[in-house]
Amino acid sequence: MAACSSSKKPLPIESGVAKTLADYRKENISDLEYQLRFDIPEEREEAIPAKNTITFNLKSVEQDLQIDFREQASLIKSVTCNGKASAYLFQSEHVIIPKSELQEGENSIEIEFTAGNTSLNRNDEFLYTLFVPDRARTAFPCFDQPNLKAKFQLNLSVPSHWKAMANGQLNTKKDEGNRSLYSFAQTKALPTYLFSFVAGQFETITRERNGHQHTMYHRETDPEKLANNTDEIFRLLFESLDWLEDYTDMPYPFAKYDIVVIPSFQYGGMEHTGATLYNASKMFLDKNATKNSLLGRANLIAHETAHMWFGDLVTMKWFDQVWLKEVFANFLADKITNPSFPDMNHKLKFEMAHFPSSYSIDRTSGANPINQVLPNLKDAGTVYGSIIYHKSPIVMDMLEKMTGEEALQKGLQTYLKTYAYGNASWEDLIGILDENTASNLKEWSKVWVDKAGRATITADIIAKDDKIAELKLRQRDAKGNPGDWNQDLNLILGYTDKVVSLPVKFDQEHMLIQDAKGLKTPDYIIPNGSGNAYAFFKMDDKTKQFLLSNIHKIDDDLLRGIAWINLYENLREGIIGGKEFILAAEQQLSKEKNTLILSRMLSYMRSVYWLNISTEDRQDLGKHLEESLWIRLSSEKDMGNKSSLYSTLSSIAETPKLLNQLYGVWKEEIAFGGFELSEKKKTALACQLAIKMPQKAEELVKTQIERIQNPDRKKKMRFVAPALSADSLVRKAFFESLKKEENRQIERWALEALGYLNHPLREKEALTYLPQALDLLKEIQVTGDIFFPYNWLSTSYSGHQSKEAGDITRQFLEDRPDYPENLKLKILQAADLVLRK
Ligand SMILES: [Zn+2]
Repeated sequence: MAACSSSKKPLPIESGVAKTLADYRKENISDLEYQLRFDIPEEREEAIPAKNTITFNLKSVEQDLQIDFREQASLIKSVTCNGKASAYLFQSEHVIIPKSELQEGENSIEIEFTAGNTSLNRNDEFLYTLFVPDRARTAFPCFDQPNLKAKFQLNLSVPSHWKAMANGQLNTKKDEGNRSLYSFAQTKALPTYLFSFVAGQFETITRERNGHQHTMYHRETDPEKLANNTDEIFRLLFESLDWLEDYTDMPYPFAKYDIVVIPSFQYGGMEHTGATLYNASKMFLDKNATKNSLLGRANLIAHETAHMWFGDLVTMKWFDQVWLKEVFANFLADKITNPSFPDMNHKLKFEMAHFPSSYSIDRTSGANPINQVLPNLKDAGTVYGSIIYHKSPIVMDMLEKMTGEEALQKGLQTYLKTYAYGNASWEDLIGILDENTASNLKEWSKVWVDKAGRATITADIIAKDDKIAELKLRQRDAKGNPGDWNQDLNLILGYTDKVVSLPVKFDQEHMLIQDAKGLKTPDYIIPNGSGNAYAFFKMDDKTKQFLLSNIHKIDDDLLRGIAWINLYENLREGIIGGKEFILAAEQQLSKEKNTLILSRMLSYMRSVYWLNISTEDRQDLGKHLEESLWIRLSSEKDMGNKSSLYSTLSSIAETPKLLNQLYGVWKEEIAFGGFELSEKKKTALACQLAIKMPQKAEELVKTQIERIQNPDRKKKMRFVAPALSADSLVRKAFFESLKKEENRQIERWALEALGYLNHPLREKEALTYLPQALDLLKEIQVTGDIFFPYNWLSTSYSGHQSKEAGDITRQFLEDRPDYPENLKLKILQAADLVLRK
């Protein structure tokens, strides 16, 4: 053996942030600090001069040092390493410092550069950074990985009529002619994806809690909207902070907590420490907002606030476990929000919030597990989706049932204390919990966290003289093989006048339910009667028939809600037809009183109406359905229900009579069946009508643009206008324009317009867009934010139910055998409906 084996092979230089590179850097770099300065000009096209001083301790100088910067080499102006000009190289998105310039122990690297614009969201009057998951490296050179936490000290020079804010508290603000220099205090250790700043023309509102000031930055121009929402936003914010400090037994772990409300923000919110961003449309709600959107806002604020502990204080080691921060945020948000809505059925709310969304992925052949594999951070965006946001809370709920509420809370407190300002994995948590739990959590986690998809559970009865002789439960996977998704069931045997509920520990591939023997044959069976169980519950014929015509006879709201979800899943799996579903839902319109169920039922109805019945059936059923909806709408007293009914009616409206009536409502700006339309609703109506009444499209769009007061919303309407044009050439040209990155920059606008282009009424024309939309996907994953690839796909499929759309998709994948697996899964998820044709 040679003695000189210590000289290591150089690390490969690849684009993105490879796991191997990240592991090496984590091993060798510590005490990391960034001192950043950005000089932001008023004009958004102008370059942003910037400087970054990186200091850190280095364990070994065996390798050259790769600093991530996903931009052109020409943006790097100068690099100094430990006081001397560096002979750095620039290669594959990295500034590479030769190892000869480095030293063991403390190092300091100074880089002057022009900031990259990709993730600065530069608008005319403001900009905001959004660096999750790996976009900090598009703006400035850094070690862009979540487990290399750093202290940031930021200096921002902005036009003097702008405001600026960041993670750290403002230390000083110096006016220098027509510019101001903001200097922020150094932060606690943060991962790069949480570093953030916002600058521009914003209004501020400040409130106090426990002696600390909290400021909301916003651009809302409607004083009534502000007045209606501000108190509630702060109340929710403070309530969340109080609750979390109590639950975690730990005070708010950072220096300050301000929020910025951004128009057309990409997500609902983003938990930048001390500088959390929120989507304006989710925060400033209309006067007659539905209970659902009120709850949605409360939940969103609680979610982002929970992140301050779960995600910000303790961070996942790598983005393959980004679900970890999301599951805690969602799980705790539900706990926080519940007491604020005391008259709401929270079990039902949980059911409605998570099961349908999670099923929407798990029913498809593109289903992904909660735990995913991620060899390079550049693909981190593709691990996001409904599974991490909605299946993980369901799984967390199971976990809490196994450990008990108190043990879980104690376990989480230990976890936070152990890993504060550092990183931890799911396995670390399970390790803490497993010590105090009877069940084998590691085995359980292998199935529920590491495996994709869901079981199909069936309940088969052999009856004799109207009595159960044998009741057998069976679980299978999607391919028909035995399933191992062991879980607790609450088996409901339902009769018109009562229900019998049998708890079942379902821990085998099939089992006989002894307690059912001898009972009267039920009218229907619901195996997931208490709502915790997760599977496709395939209906037998008798259950299906009973529920389709008598679901209102189930008195219990939770059970009735579960039955609706089961019915819809049976529709999507081909057990129930679209027409039977619509007719059943229509029949229930006058009977359903529960707001959550009504709103779920209506959203199923809209979707089935456009996507699961033929054009002929639609025309057949439409007129009557419009009348039934109108009757319920005009007699409804609850404004939230009225709003959901209105949305459904305006979505399905197709008869000239109703369209003309709606047109009159829009033109005269009057109420509809006692429902007053907000500006947002009026705008949405103008857009819907423009598609359905092409002869009036020009007037509708032009007038609506004139009517909108808020400049941000006006701009959006101008942007989407060509997608609403009656001229197919204009629409086509608009679709072409979406191929240019700059036209997709405000993703919400692009998606809204794409939705109009793909309206079900334009299905034939939209088929020509589909192959091109698929072609763009790879590029969209690189240029767009984390939810954009899937949203782009699901919107591109939103108007399709034809076999042709399925054929186009199959052909696309067949022609590309080496297509990236993560993107292929997204396509299989979004195209599920047409791929079954
Ligand atoms: Zn989140």
